[in-house]
Amino acid sequence: MQWNEFEEWSQKMATWAADYHRTLRDKPVRAQVSPGDTLSLLPETAPDSAEPMQNIIDDFERIIMPGITHWQHPRFFAYFPSNAAPPSILAEQIVSAISAQCMLWQTSPSATELETRMMEWIRDGLGLPDAFTGVIQDSASSATLAAVLTMRERALNWDGNKSGLSSQKTLRIYCSDQVHTSIDRAIWIAGIGQDNLVKLPTTGDKKSIDIKALQNAIAKDRADGYLPAGIIAVTGATGMGACDDISAVTEVAANEGLFTHLDAAWAGSAMFCPEFRELWAGVERCDSIVFNPHKWLGAQFDCSVQFLRDPDALRQTLAIRPEYLKTHGQAEVTDYSEWSVPLGRRFRALKLWFLMRAYGIDGLRNRMRNHVAWAEALAARIAKEDDFEIVTNPIFSLFTFRFLGEGDLDDLNQRLVDRLNDDGRIYLTQTFVDGKKVIRFQIGQFDCTEQDVHVAFETVLEIARSL
Ligand code: PLP
Repeated sequence: MQWNEFEEWSQKMATWAADYHRTLRDKPVRAQVSPGDTLSLLPETAPDSAEPMQNIIDDFERIIMPGITHWQHPRFFAYFPSNAAPPSILAEQIVSAISAQCMLWQTSPSATELETRMMEWIRDGLGLPDAFTGVIQDSASSATLAAVLTMRERALNWDGNKSGLSSQKTLRIYCSDQVHTSIDRAIWIAGIGQDNLVKLPTTGDKKSIDIKALQNAIAKDRADGYLPAGIIAVTGATGMGACDDISAVTEVAANEGLFTHLDAAWAGSAMFCPEFRELWAGVERCDSIVFNPHKWLGAQFDCSVQFLRDPDALRQTLAIRPEYLKTHGQAEVTDYSEWSVPLGRRFRALKLWFLMRAYGIDGLRNRMRNHVAWAEALAARIAKEDDFEIVTNPIFSLFTFRFLGEGDLDDLNQRLVDRLNDDGRIYLTQTFVDGKKVIRFQIGQFDCTEQDVHVAFETVLEIARSL
């Protein structure tokens, strides 16, 4: 393709995208293909000669689209949302056209400075103190890895990167048994080892880390010669939305001299609404906080924000300056690639700018408030049905429930999830709570309406009772 054809195709793609969004409710939410279906339609080798763009687009519709699960479908209630509000998609179109690699201030000064300003807007929007400085990471997993590496280096007096871990005391990191697997992976990659991630039991209906058990574990580890390095807390864990008592966790961390990282990948967006902030009371004492505007807030994937009380500690852990990356005579600028594991950086701040301006913070808040209110109303409605039980009450907009039909309930509820997803009107996933298989229901898709939630209720009842 030549650039002179680009405009025509780009306009066609914009029309395609608008049509796609207009007709989403008519499509099954989860892809209805079997393993290998797409692969079998793809030629085994790449073409030797150029093909017309129209053929490529036709094949895209025929081969690829049937195997797409529609994350932007208003009745997507599975996992957590991965929203892409239209202004953020427009920003991504521009970013894709510019395709700047924003690793250093110099490699796109306005991208760096927009990122700095957006981090301040978001920090203030979340009600975090000015003491925090933000950076955009590609994913919460990367942010957590950066935080774990920082807690490791801090505990080792900045010697781990240099000398390795073999001659060091064995490090220990603490969290609850509710945390996301990105924590485990960060521990593996940081060389700390799964055995040294101490997962503690939880208490209460929010499944908060047991503070007494945390204190005891740290004391025992010190007595046994381990080196405690940090605590990873969670607000809104993936399974059923568990929330640690952040005030209590940070109190323990302060007493023990430990670094605290908070994973609020999903729930962080809700903290734009002051009324939800009690669920992370004490957050200002964390050293590092991650949340994903690409989940609930509406920024197109990928966009993860990490706030740090002391970015120097992160930079001391990750920054490396070979001559080819030095920008001479510009000591006062920020080079965000020194704050993250990957060197190369996409221009992610633009979609945050478009998003926050196009809706205003109030517009974004109102959506999330609706989701929480609809989740509470739906849970109350399901609770009234004799053959259903609510297993965990809504935390933000996530709750879990079970169908109480005949036979083995774990098996029955998995069959219900599978049947619902084969049906296609809605998309849900399952998890375990206290050893019981339950169905998760989260509301957070950007275009979801109360009517979509009503359809979900009717569909769950209809299919459950037909099993
Ligand atoms: N933390 C929590 C609580 C999550 O739910 C998820 C993903 O859903 C992650 C971390 C990982 O996020 P990412 O895909 O941005 O690495």
